[in-house]
Amino acid sequence: MAKKKEKIRVYNRLFFKLYLNYAVMLLITALLISLIFIRLFTNVTTGNILKEMKEQAKVVSGITKESVINERTDQYIELLQRLEQINDWDIWVISNPEAAMPLDYDMEYGATYEDFEDTPELVGYLELLHSAFEGNVNSEQKYDEIYEGQTITVAYPVYGDSDFVVGVVMVKTLVEEQQEIVSSSLTVILISSAVALGISFVIVILFTTGLSIPISRMRATALELAAGNYKSKTGISRDDEIGDLANTVDILSDKLLENDIERKKLDQMRFDFFANVSHELRTPITVIRAYTETLADGVVSDMEQIDQYYNRMLSECKSMERLIADLLALSKMQNPDFTIEKEPVNLVQVFDDIIRSAGAIAEKKNISIEVTKNEPLMMVLGDYDRLRQMFMVILDNAIKFSKENQTVHINLSNTDKIRVSIKDQGIGIDVSDINYIFEKFYKSNLRQNASGTGLGLAIAKQISLKHEGDIEVISAPGEGTEFIFTLPQYRMEL
Ligand code: ATP
Ligand code: MG
Repeated sequence: MAKKKEKIRVYNRLFFKLYLNYAVMLLITALLISLIFIRLFTNVTTGNILKEMKEQAKVVSGITKESVINERTDQYIELLQRLEQINDWDIWVISNPEAAMPLDYDMEYGATYEDFEDTPELVGYLELLHSAFEGNVNSEQKYDEIYEGQTITVAYPVYGDSDFVVGVVMVKTLVEEQQEIVSSSLTVILISSAVALGISFVIVILFTTGLSIPISRMRATALELAAGNYKSKTGISRDDEIGDLANTVDILSDKLLENDIERKKLDQMRFDFFANVSHELRTPITVIRAYTETLADGVVSDMEQIDQYYNRMLSECKSMERLIADLLALSKMQNPDFTIEKEPVNLVQVFDDIIRSAGAIAEKKNISIEVTKNEPLMMVLGDYDRLRQMFMVILDNAIKFSKENQTVHINLSNTDKIRVSIKDQGIGIDVSDINYIFEKFYKSNLRQNASGTGLGLAIAKQISLKHEGDIEVISAPGEGTEFIFTLPQYRMEL
């Protein structure tokens, strides 16, 4: 049997498993949200910055072109410086050395083409520069060693009055701010995930206690049931599956209780039966022993008295024989494997037979037996001797419990089924006794029943059951008793 106090390991507990699921799900969600957020955010912000930078580069390119055409450079540099301050972006204007008419020296700003060729930190931008010399607007995002961070660079061509690219405007900025926003957003996501984990902890605790309390209560009930306490109930009423299960456990306990009661009753009956049998056998044996001892002692010499003793001994032997025969018949028929051999039997004939045998006893009390029947042939399928025995038990009782000069009525009728009524005008049966008369050893203690064992009706009931029959008793104390049998009719096939 399972130990009562056996604890479930922490990691096997429902709470732990559920919470683990929750936590993993939350972390995956947070991770996905973070990734998507970073992706979207950088795309959007980079896109916006790039667009603005290109706008600015275009403006600078326009200003430069105008200055070249108008040959006015006096305010040009100040203008660029002011533009740089507005956005905090670096602006470079680089002359195209390959152009027929490159930019004037005083229009270059920030760096020269030679700087790009000579400075190791700038060499990386040459490709971007060349592409712009060919007239392309390009951009590049990468780690910059001078800025010591991620930068975005936009290169925009400057055209002279012809269609030649005379120079390039470069706008460049650090994107650190953007990364700061990303990392602070990540912190927010992290903190909210932690808070969500905390909240889900509480939710899971509430949820699992709602589950584990009834579960452990059902477990306790099951252990109680296993220990033999069938009155134990879960006491849970819920509308969900748990409630269903608890209800099933309760039904189980009811069934076990019923079975237990039934088993105890059977045990008691078996015990009573043995006690009764021993008692019933002991009485005649004691009597026989007493007489035998007296006779053996030789103290009785009167022949008449000796004869009387022998007769008493013989009658005790006979009643013992009858008791044992009855017990054997009963135990045989109570065996579910026992089947009687059936053949067509005419009940009218059975009753002729019974009345002939009972006639002598009836005559002693001057009791008349009247038989009425609506047909000369009443066929059932059964065992002649058993059927005879069954009706004999009833008729014997009817005569035994009738007063002198009374009548016993027997009626046989044949409708859908065969109905046999045996009715006396005798002492009747008390309402409180009527439910027990078919039980073994249940008998009246009246003087006229001195030799009764209380097995007659128990045998009759078994025989009736073996013939798919039914017995009904109608009785009123002082007025008489009627036993009514119903038996299936046997129809001969033509
Ligand atoms: P046995 O038949 O074994 O000699 P019994 O007649 O006492 O003994 P049952 O035939 O089983 O046993 O009957 C049981 C009891 O039912 C009887 O003792 C009696 O109290 C009651 N009983 C049965 N038939 C009648 C009846 N016709 N009138 C009144 N009481 C009856
Ligand atoms: Mg009897």
